Order: sequence, then C-alpha cells, then structure tokens
Amino acid sequence: MPQQVSSPTSPLLTPRPLLIAGPCSAESERQVLTTAENLRRNTRVQIFRAGVWKPRTKPGGFEGIGAPALKWLVKARQLTGMPIATEVAVPRHVEATSDCGIDLLWIGARTSADPFAMQELAETIGRLCPDTPVLVKNPVVADIELWIGAIERLRDAGVKNIGAIHRGFRSLGHEIYRNHPRWSVPLELHRRMPQLPLISDPSHIGGRRDLIAPLAQKAMDMGFDGLIIETHPEPDVALSDKDQQITPHELSQLLDSLQFRSMRHDADEPLREFRLQIDQLDAELLEILSRRMVVSQEIGCYKRRHGIPVVQTERYENVLLSRIASGEGMGMSSEFIGRLFALIHEESIQKQL
Ligand code: PEP
Ligand code: MN
Repeated sequence: MPQQVSSPTSPLLTPRPLLIAGPCSAESERQVLTTAENLRRNTRVQIFRAGVWKPRTKPGGFEGIGAPALKWLVKARQLTGMPIATEVAVPRHVEATSDCGIDLLWIGARTSADPFAMQELAETIGRLCPDTPVLVKNPVVADIELWIGAIERLRDAGVKNIGAIHRGFRSLGHEIYRNHPRWSVPLELHRRMPQLPLISDPSHIGGRRDLIAPLAQKAMDMGFDGLIIETHPEPDVALSDKDQQITPHELSQLLDSLQFRSMRHDADEPLREFRLQIDQLDAELLEILSRRMVVSQEIGCYKRRHGIPVVQTERYENVLLSRIASGEGMGMSSEFIGRLFALIHEESIQKQL
C-alpha cells in the first residue's frame, strides 16, 4: 500500500472553493498589475497566477519573459495582497522563485510527464522551499500512475503542501476540447489520494472561452476543491493561449453564475439512504454477473465437447445490438451499454477458454 499524501497544512490551499486566476503569461508589468488589481477589486479570487517560463511545443513562439517578470508578480502581491503563483519546470526556475519568495508553484503537464525532470524538480523544491505549496498538473497523457508518481516524488523529497490540477489530456483528432477531460482519471486520483486538494483548469481543458463556464460547473458538481482560470485584460491580443483567456470582468460574471459544492461533506441522512440503495443494487449486480459467468463456463465446456469454436461473431453482434436497444429503451446511452457488454463479453470469453 503506497504511503498516502497527508492533508496540506498551508492556509493557501484551504479555502473552498480555492480560486486561482491570472494571465497565461506575464507579458508586461502593466498587464500583470492591471489584471491583479482588477481581480482583487472585482472577484473572489484568492491567488494570482502568471506563467513566466512558457513551455512551447515548438521553438520560435513566445517563451515567456523569464526571471525578470518575477518582480512584476512580487509587485502585484505588494499592491493587492494576493499570494502569487507561477510554473516551474527545471531546478533553475525554483532557485529564482524561492529567491523572490513566490508563494505557490505549479508543475506543468509536460514536466509531470517526465520522471527524470520531476525527480530533479522535486529534490530542488524539497531542498529550497519545502513549505511552498505545489500543484501538480496531470501529465499530457492519461496515465494516472505517472500523475501519482510525480506527486509521490514531491512527497518523498519532503514537500509538505501538495495539490493536483486537472487540465485534461492530449486528444488526437478533432474534438471539441483542446485537452480531453476524461473525468474518470481525476476521480480515480481523488479515490486513491483523498487528502489531496484537486483543482480544475477549465481554460486548458476547453481551449475556448465559451467552454470555461460549463466545464467549471461540471468540476464543481463533481466536488473539485477549486478552479484555476486564465484571465487577461485584453484576451484577443494575449501572447499565449488567447482563445481561452477571459477578462477579469467576465471571470467575475462566470464565478457569480456557478454553483459551488464540495467533495468533502460528511454524509448527511438522505445521502446515507441513497448510498445504502446503491450498495444494495451493486451487490445484486455483482451476484447476477457472477451467475452469468458460471453459465459462460458451462457453455465453454459444452462447446469444447462438441468442437464448437468459442467466439461466434454473429451471435456476439446480435447480443450486443439487442442489449443496446433494450438499454436505450431504459434511458441509458448506446455508448455506455456497448462498452459495458464488450467488457462482459471479453470476460465471458476468458471463462470459456
Ligand atoms: C499554463 O498553465 O499556462 C500551462 C502551460 O499549462 P499546461 O501545463 O496545463 O499546458
Ligand atoms: Mn496557458
């Protein structure tokens, strides 16, 4: 059993919902200060973010201002009182952020996908600023072990306040999302590490302004602990991620429209009742599935005795189509029933073999 990540002790990670906002990149002192002041005045955002070193897929794009922009963030903190956050990817970045006392760090999706980079980064943070909270973005690929591995490297290096950011996973082809959310992955992370604060990044998942509100609401409905949203005074001229940034005023309207819930409720009475019903139904489901597998095994013996091959495509097709039709009649999607019966069929073949 892996050693668990304990609850963070930093007050920076405790407000619910935890709201982080600011530009994708720090571009100029004026842009940084205007955004921070506007956020402070018009929203409930608690932490100001801005990327200083920008990981770009190809060289030649805007790669951030680098260390000189850190002093704009420090100035934004002096002006607004908001704690400041930025992304670190290599030890040199951590040296610079710890020199000027950046309050919170995040690790980007490309870095968390690289165990060597993560190990070096974790050791540097553990050595220079173990109390600084660190949020780990999910790796670009939907590999939960890699995400957990990155978190464990930080924990093992002595970093005390760790959280996670769900920013979606690289999608191939033409999908509506820039990065596919695959909600089951962050939910599995929460199941495996229940103490870990889990923040949603609808800006990088959606990649489009109009997708931010519905994605943020979905994350809140699922009980995420907070949101990180990219905010720029003039999104159309932003030097990075311009299609997904919104103004502080738009952010304020968006936050007003959201309904916040928390994953960390103690179960109240009606909820306990519902859960008892679910437990009962799951027990029945398992019982029925195991009976179905016993019949599969018997079919397997029969087929073997009579020289009949295990897989018969036509029968499988008919079973699948009829289950999908019945399931749809009961209000379930064809995709869900298709996937469910494909899994059951696969297991059933194993039993017959
Ligand atoms: C960012 O937050 O600006 C960023 C680069 O994010 P990601 O690592 O999720 O692409
Ligand atoms: Mn960005």
